[in-house]
Amino acid sequence: MLKWLGSLTDSNEKELKRLEPIVDETNSLEPEVQKLSDAELRAKTDELKARLKNGETLDDILPAAFAACREAARRTIGERHFDVQLIGGIVLHQGKIAEMKTGEGKTLVATLSLYLNALSGDGCHLVTVNDYLARRDAYWMGPIYHALGLTVASIYPQQNPDEHLPARLYDPDYTDEKDTRWPHFKPVSRQQAYQADITYGTNNEFGFDYLRDNMAIDLSQYVQRPLNYAIVDEVDNILIDEARTPLIISGAAEEATEKYNTFARLITQLKKDEDYTIEEKERQTYLTESGMTKMEKWLRRDGLLKAPSLYDPANYILTQYLENALKASVLFKRDRDYVVKDGNVIIVDEFTGRLMLGRRYSEGLHQAIEAKERVKVQRESVTLATITFQNYFRLYKKLAGMTGTAATEAEEFHKIYKLEVVIIPTNKPMVRVDNPDQIYKDEETKFKAVAREIETFHQQGRPVLIGTVSIEKSEKLGDLLKRKGIPHQLLNAKNHEKEAAIIAQAGHTGAVTVATNMAGRGVDIILGGKKPEEPKREDFPDEQEWQKEHQKWQKESREWPKEHDKVIELGGLHVIGTERHEARRIDNQLRGRSGRQGDPGSSRFYVSLEDDVVHRFGGDRVKGFMEWAGFDENTPIEHSMVSKSIENAQVKVEGYHFDVRKHLVDYDDVVNRHREVIYDERRKILEGADLKVNILSMVREEIEKLVASSCSRDLIEPDFTSLTEELATILPPSPELNLDTFSRFKPDQITEKLIEYAEHLYEQREAEIGAENIRLMERLVMLRSLDNLWKDHLTAMDHLRQQASLYAMKQVDPIVVYKKEGHALFQSLTASIQHDVVHTIFKVRIDKKEAPAQRQPQRAAVPSGKKVGRNQPCPCGSGKKYKHCCGR
Ligand code: ADP
Ligand code: MG
Repeated sequence: MLKWLGSLTDSNEKELKRLEPIVDETNSLEPEVQKLSDAELRAKTDELKARLKNGETLDDILPAAFAACREAARRTIGERHFDVQLIGGIVLHQGKIAEMKTGEGKTLVATLSLYLNALSGDGCHLVTVNDYLARRDAYWMGPIYHALGLTVASIYPQQNPDEHLPARLYDPDYTDEKDTRWPHFKPVSRQQAYQADITYGTNNEFGFDYLRDNMAIDLSQYVQRPLNYAIVDEVDNILIDEARTPLIISGAAEEATEKYNTFARLITQLKKDEDYTIEEKERQTYLTESGMTKMEKWLRRDGLLKAPSLYDPANYILTQYLENALKASVLFKRDRDYVVKDGNVIIVDEFTGRLMLGRRYSEGLHQAIEAKERVKVQRESVTLATITFQNYFRLYKKLAGMTGTAATEAEEFHKIYKLEVVIIPTNKPMVRVDNPDQIYKDEETKFKAVAREIETFHQQGRPVLIGTVSIEKSEKLGDLLKRKGIPHQLLNAKNHEKEAAIIAQAGHTGAVTVATNMAGRGVDIILGGKKPEEPKREDFPDEQEWQKEHQKWQKESREWPKEHDKVIELGGLHVIGTERHEARRIDNQLRGRSGRQGDPGSSRFYVSLEDDVVHRFGGDRVKGFMEWAGFDENTPIEHSMVSKSIENAQVKVEGYHFDVRKHLVDYDDVVNRHREVIYDERRKILEGADLKVNILSMVREEIEKLVASSCSRDLIEPDFTSLTEELATILPPSPELNLDTFSRFKPDQITEKLIEYAEHLYEQREAEIGAENIRLMERLVMLRSLDNLWKDHLTAMDHLRQQASLYAMKQVDPIVVYKKEGHALFQSLTASIQHDVVHTIFKVRIDKKEAPAQRQPQRAAVPSGKKVGRNQPCPCGSGKKYKHCCGR
């Protein structure tokens, strides 16, 4: 790991050298662009787009584009990109990670590369860590893009009940009277936001939009364009810290819990051997004819039966309840397979005998057992779609990132994302003093010492920022400070916007701010507090009010430099870390809050032997050293060797976490390939692929399979009875080919004739209901099968993963098992889709009220411009009205 870092710094120098000529060229264009009128500057964009059209590459036009962007920034927001910021911009354009310290102006840096890449017209995304920054940064940089004739939008999560999937477009011609912070943010749709040249948003919103798009049933519902280029801000946080939890869209399974109870009750009235049989070895159980007849009778009596035969597709859902109830009743034993505790059914691990808390059997079996045990039947939530951030961000044609702290994780960025890290020098030399750690015997003494130090600085008037590792610890410190009567602010990353306001003032004289490590990330701490903002004339229609506001601002502006200088004189912001975090990166983040843009500042970490990292990973060495150094209860020791061993412990933990995340990626890669195939299929369906050909060839295959198995050579004579039964689940009976006539034909002829018959029926249907309707029906049937079975597949893969992990005990690599079995599951998924489609397609009715019901469609949306009445049965075959189903 350390060797890796060494080579990183060497190659870094070389890399920076290589970029110098590009910076020089950009600089040389500056005098020229400075002379342009605003309109001429805007026209640069068209000129550059034209150059791209004429075959020049983005690299060719980079200096001209950067020069234009820099000039636009200077004119609009009064910030001219520094040379080091140009370097950062080039690195971002090259699809790498720019490591730039906090306060170096990464928000501004991104505009260069976003502008350049947006010239291709393919849309660029800037990914922020929270929704507040998604709005702030788009709005803050908005004037730059606008001056260049590009559009910029922001997407963010719902803030209040009436804004669903909110999005805003920066538009200076629009003014929202009520919004005093961001008046020129025009509400737009998500789609419009993605149509903008540049879109800012959080990782979650981008990822969820991607998943939602892939659940849409009409192309017109897609909001995203193909994923072209993204810059991820605070990239370590998003691609490393957040990468441990995937994005999941889940829905509460729609289920009638009462049915579980009904079936549990009915099942107890069946008799073993007479009504059902058990095959112990395979752990299977089957209903006999007699059992079936009884069930049909009881269900008819209860009004649940939709068609006379239980195995009619219309009763599909019922058979699932039935199978589960039977299994639950005869195969699963209380206190062997599961226990019942406090009204919950808890699975017992068959390998270890341990209770598997929180885990549930899938597909309704758990509920069936709950019903059997007469405890409350729980509603289950199902995963409809899921993706890890690793795999979402790999979908972009080009990916780049920026953060203050990436170098320590360079290896991971490289291995998982193929992202290189380039360390960009600071604009002004860094003068912050980082003091060596102070090590205490226990946490109690440590916190007391921290409080004393805060008190000292506070009395001097120096602002102090204290980082804690958890909300709990920050509250603990807060209590200590309260007892000492030291006024302070507590932040814990719950309300980003409010925190931004507080942290922006953390540089005031005497300010004491206690924060967890994420709190206020992305917000600049300026010594002396935030500079007063000049009010805008147009925001004050009333002349008097304007005068008053403006005078107030003038007064504050005169005060501000005094305040600023005073804090500088005192030594700037002092940062205290109350514990070493598991990753050095996070500690560096905290330190980096001080000493921005050449500001003076200092930092110190306080450590105790009871701290998690020290305790778990380096405790003995640190302790040994301390004993050697002559350790006493109350005097802390401060020695670079101790800091070193703690750092080594951190490196160990980082490595461990990397392995965990790598593991997640290895697993997700398996499902990811499946997802690619399925999403690709979906997309083709929506784009109007010829489904008729597809579906008919599926029908053909299914028929061939059926005939082949009932006329198999292994049988003494062909099993026409089962063939007839099976066929009945696909097609209405053929007048020509049936139980009476099969024996007159050879197997090949049977297949031939059946296929002919199926095709004929299909054409007939098409003539009856019209080509347009049948195309819609094909699409909906395919989508529904694909989506339902894909959802089940996700659950199955999840279970497989849990099972695979058990193989570790048998010295078999779980990932090998997972890959192999996963492949088999995927094959059976494609087979099931075919089976499902073929068994639905001939049964779907558009024109009658009652259609045979199969599984519930889980996606509801309106296909555009098609003619299905709202009260008609849904063409997807669910049996519900269109308005309650796909037309919802
Ligand atoms: P980072 O994201 O790198 O921590 P920010 O983008 O939040 O930094 O910017 C930090 C501060 O530096 C902001 O107040 C911004 O206005 C200022 N800043 C950045 N670049 C420039 C520049 N070229 N000229 C003047 N001020 C700048
Ligand atoms: Mg930032």
